[in-house]
Amino acid sequence: MSDTTKKRLATVWLDGCSGCHMSFLDIDERIIALAGLIDLVYSPLVDAKEFPEGVDVTLVEGAVSSEEDLHKIQMVRQRTKILVSLGDCAVTSNVPAMRNPFRTADVYDRAYRENVTFDAGTPFQVVPKLLPYSRPVHEIVPVDVFIPGCPPSADTIFYAVSELLEGRTPDLTEKTRFGA
Ligand code: SF4
Repeated sequence: MSDTTKKRLATVWLDGCSGCHMSFLDIDERIIALAGLIDLVYSPLVDAKEFPEGVDVTLVEGAVSSEEDLHKIQMVRQRTKILVSLGDCAVTSNVPAMRNPFRTADVYDRAYRENVTFDAGTPFQVVPKLLPYSRPVHEIVPVDVFIPGCPPSADTIFYAVSELLEGRTPDLTEKTRFGA
């Protein structure tokens, strides 16, 4: 039976490099203190297949770049009280947006034909279809808290999550910056 005094935390990985999740894990032993306060109900770090209802806080890494990302973030938003854009890719599109000046067809060609040495061809199954542009999360759904950084430091993430769990809005003015 779940502990109803604990907050329900989730993390989501969209179009990012996983560096923001790695930075989250870098909170090291503080994860034990955090574990006493939260249930991690969905994350690449745990074996949960479906994003649940009634999540208190969700940290989102990465931009919205594919149809799968789009459907996922809309569903996550519906099921989350406080949605957090974690890292520059979620906040601004950052690295994923580097393909935005190019046509999607050209991006596919570059990745799956020009840069391969065998079996060239664009996959039409399994790989989610790209959207025309890679977008920051807040252009798709409302975002409550922004944590810039590439990645944000473990200290910054721990501070922000701790404040949110206490019901406060973290003041990140002095804690992080874009590209930090
Ligand atoms: S913000 Fe930086 S570390 Fe985080 S997913 Fe994007 S490129 Fe990776």
